[in-house]
Amino acid sequence: MTRILTGDRPTGPLHIGHYVGKIVPTLAALEHADEAYVMVADYHAFTTHYLEPLSVRDAVEEMVIDYLAAGIDPEKHVVFVQSQVPEHLELAYLLGALTPVSHLERVPTYKEKIQETGRPPTFALLGYPVLMASDIMVYRGDTVPVGDDQVPHLEFTREVVRRFNQAYGFDFPEPQPYLSHVPRLAGLDGEHKMSKSLHNQIDLRMSAEETEARVTQMVTDPQRVRKSDPGRPEVCPAHQYYEAFVPEEAEDIATQCRGAAVGCVACKSRLAGRINDYFREHRARRAEIASRSGYVKQVLHEGGIAARKTARRTLDEVHAKLGISRLGH
Ligand code: ATP
Ligand code: MG
Repeated sequence: MTRILTGDRPTGPLHIGHYVGKIVPTLAALEHADEAYVMVADYHAFTTHYLEPLSVRDAVEEMVIDYLAAGIDPEKHVVFVQSQVPEHLELAYLLGALTPVSHLERVPTYKEKIQETGRPPTFALLGYPVLMASDIMVYRGDTVPVGDDQVPHLEFTREVVRRFNQAYGFDFPEPQPYLSHVPRLAGLDGEHKMSKSLHNQIDLRMSAEETEARVTQMVTDPQRVRKSDPGRPEVCPAHQYYEAFVPEEAEDIATQCRGAAVGCVACKSRLAGRINDYFREHRARRAEIASRSGYVKQVLHEGGIAARKTARRTLDEVHAKLGISRLGH
């Protein structure tokens, strides 16, 4: 039995890093899944975007349009919004009851996000991995497609699962990450991972022209000043993008770069064309799905009902075992 849970935070539009790092492995995992839950993690977005609640709301539908355009089929898989399934919070509370604060403080993304946002840490930010463990456990998920920044969170989830199973005699599976061949796509700054919050991304909804303009701005090997200088593809994000989107041309462009046979401008111009080829169909499907009035809302409505049914069953089992009575039931 393979049960998949995967999610993204609606903190902005999905970018091409999500596509290769998360959506591509999700599609691969879905091929041999028995059940799959694809979640827009709006509560998780509040850990950093709590002062922009309306931006979170607006990002939800856009995200779902990208899921559907990429080929996630709502007839076969449950596509839903996290906040529509309050059972995630109920279980998170019980998981939090046996999670030491010191373990949460050690999670690497906690310190990263404090630095990134420049705001004092909050209870929700610290507790993020507990809610993530709950997201997976309410569906008894065993396979979680993610980018590599999420691997420590999954390790944390397995610890939570073990502690919960041991304390109360459950058999929740210990979920494993399912990674892409490009588990971390660099951002256009060449320094950080591509990320919605860092504004170093190419959004899936950008046009061919916008994509080309963004690729042109990309930082390349900083030591290569003149076209006649040999380049170092291993430190250049453009080369990683070739590997991600046109792997068959990656070696050739690397040889040309090392031998100073191609300049950065020409290399990026060719790359922009290839990225546009890669996403041409996705963009067309995106536009078609966006034009269907009420369709995304309907998908999320039905997905929310289906997700809740599974999650409620899990919570009922947990409540029964822990002796938490539900008066009136
Ligand atoms: P934020 O900056 O708000 O944290 P994000 O761009 O990091 O946004 P998330 O919603 O945090 O996006 O991540 C959703 C999923 O996509 C995660 O599994 C994450 O690992 C994956 N992902 C995000 N960015 C990349 C990337 N650049 N390369 C590979 N995978 C990525
Ligand atoms: Mg992130």
